[in-house]
Amino acid sequence: MKLKVCGMKYQDNIKQVASLQPDYLGFIFYKNSARNFDTESIPELPKSIKKTGVFVDADIDVVIDKIKRHGLKAVQLHGKESPNYCKELQSKNIEIFKVFSIKDEFDFSVLKPYEGIVDYFLFDTKGKQPGGNGYTFDWSVLNNYPSTTPFFLSGGIGLNQIEDIKKFQQSEASKYCYALDINSKFEIEPGLKNIEDLKKFKQIPAFAGMTEIMNYNVNEKGYYGEFGGAFIPEMLYPNVEELRQNYLKVMTEPDFKNEFDQLLKDYVGRPSPLYFAKRLSEKYNTKIYLKREDLNHTGAHKINNTIGQILMAKRLAKTRIIAETGAGQHGVATATVCALMGLECIVYMGEIDIARQAPNVARMKMLGAKVVPALSGSRTLKDATNEAIRDWINNPVNTHYIIGSAIGPHPYPDMVTRFQAVISEEIKWQLKEQENRENPDYIVACIGGGSNAAGTYYHYLHELDVSIIAVEAAGLGVDSGESAATSVLGKEGIIHGCKTLLMQTNDGQITEPYSISAGLDYPGVGPMHAHLCKTKRAEFLSITDDEAMKAGLELCKLEGIIPAIESSHALAIFEQKTFKPDDVIVVSLSGRGDKDLENYIDYFKI
Ligand SMILES: *Cc1c(COP(=O)(O)O)cnc(C)c1O
Repeated sequence: MKLKVCGMKYQDNIKQVASLQPDYLGFIFYKNSARNFDTESIPELPKSIKKTGVFVDADIDVVIDKIKRHGLKAVQLHGKESPNYCKELQSKNIEIFKVFSIKDEFDFSVLKPYEGIVDYFLFDTKGKQPGGNGYTFDWSVLNNYPSTTPFFLSGGIGLNQIEDIKKFQQSEASKYCYALDINSKFEIEPGLKNIEDLKKFKQIPAFAGMTEIMNYNVNEKGYYGEFGGAFIPEMLYPNVEELRQNYLKVMTEPDFKNEFDQLLKDYVGRPSPLYFAKRLSEKYNTKIYLKREDLNHTGAHKINNTIGQILMAKRLAKTRIIAETGAGQHGVATATVCALMGLECIVYMGEIDIARQAPNVARMKMLGAKVVPALSGSRTLKDATNEAIRDWINNPVNTHYIIGSAIGPHPYPDMVTRFQAVISEEIKWQLKEQENRENPDYIVACIGGGSNAAGTYYHYLHELDVSIIAVEAAGLGVDSGESAATSVLGKEGIIHGCKTLLMQTNDGQITEPYSISAGLDYPGVGPMHAHLCKTKRAEFLSITDDEAMKAGLELCKLEGIIPAIESSHALAIFEQKTFKPDDVIVVSLSGRGDKDLENYIDYFKI
């Protein structure tokens, strides 16, 4: 559990408390408080301590000014600040705590509008003042806590509560308790903390063995657990750093969001339907919904990401776009948005792939892109990636590199995930309309690099009542030597600029993967999925070529939908796993099968 010490006021005292290394130090910016911080500056603190500004219905400009002036890493909002108010602060790269005061009972429904906007709730004792009343509330109220957003426990906590804290840690309610917030019970006078008492409190076991809440999102260093990061040549650093510093800021600008949403609606054709597959459901005696990404413009989910990235490139004043492609699907999605925006487009593609994927090469050319063959190595995807990276190094100022999956150096996996997150955002309200609940029992997606899966999971990652299923391509069989089942065959390694699970030989050479489906024929998975696998948050299943093809044809016959072979892998789980009749399962139908007709024809001798 983390510790926050709040209500700091005096320079020397601040330094002394900081030497105890709490996780957060709170500074109150509220004139009516006896602990109002009215000093010009906060003394230099260790980097590990997050400076937190506490406000009560302050003007948003005042809050922003204090964030800048004091380098605040968190703000704690004690008044009637609205969800929109909190939203405005989201772009400031800070943690947001919204405070709610509890007496003997609490109506938890008031938290709902803040979900997904604030990082933490903070529960305090209801009293005359906003905070600092010096007595605790009945913590058992939190046994009914309906949310998965972690919270701070506050209000009159002192050395007398050590036994209560131990008891609380045994309770159901403590599962989401992220930190304890202490203040007045450790004071000699308002704002002046008693260092000896703080030292004693810091010794209690609550701050040692307590389970950390699992976080499935990227952290500020670009890691999902032990996976992710940015392993790039030094020459690329300025490009990636420029993107890292700007992507969240740009994505939360209202103008950017409006343009993105508008294009998703009018150009891509969103929202994509959430379709209840009645005959398929009858066959497997459970409730199956298909999220119809196959109906998007260009036939798959990939366009969600390329639209987002082309808008990002424009905001960063880039005039030239590069991409790499294997089967050509990402190349087509990139060429499409470049035509849409009138930007120059260069797509690198292995020479072998160019020969294998003639229709997609033709599409890219028709859309105005230049397709450059990669002539080195095995002349496939990884060689095309190398060429793209080389190009980016040589053109650092005017060029944006559009990566096509939830892979690459930080911030790419997170940026791509956020663009694709529109998928789960829509599933939530669509399922609410049809089933009167936002959360299905299972969400299912196939994983190549992991972008359609990341988008399908995103808003459910911390909803632990939703089981996550990730489907990999087993090719001719996991043990056949011709497979792409990374979670089974992969080991930790570095590919495409990030640390993740990767199929490799004992001396670290990347193994050539195999799957009948071009989109799943990739030797790694994105770092988020490596983390979901390692922590067992997601269940990974492997599906062979034969199983996928059969499931694909079955969907044609039962529902009149020809799926992409990638998506057919996700559909094949129903032969492998049994679900209950009233389970609600949402499957990402990531793309349509037009591009795969020749494969289907060959396979079924149609
Ligand atoms: C590219 C592709 C995939 C695999 O890519 P992810 O990044 O893992 O989503 C899956 N389905 C279709 C239809 C694709 O085109």
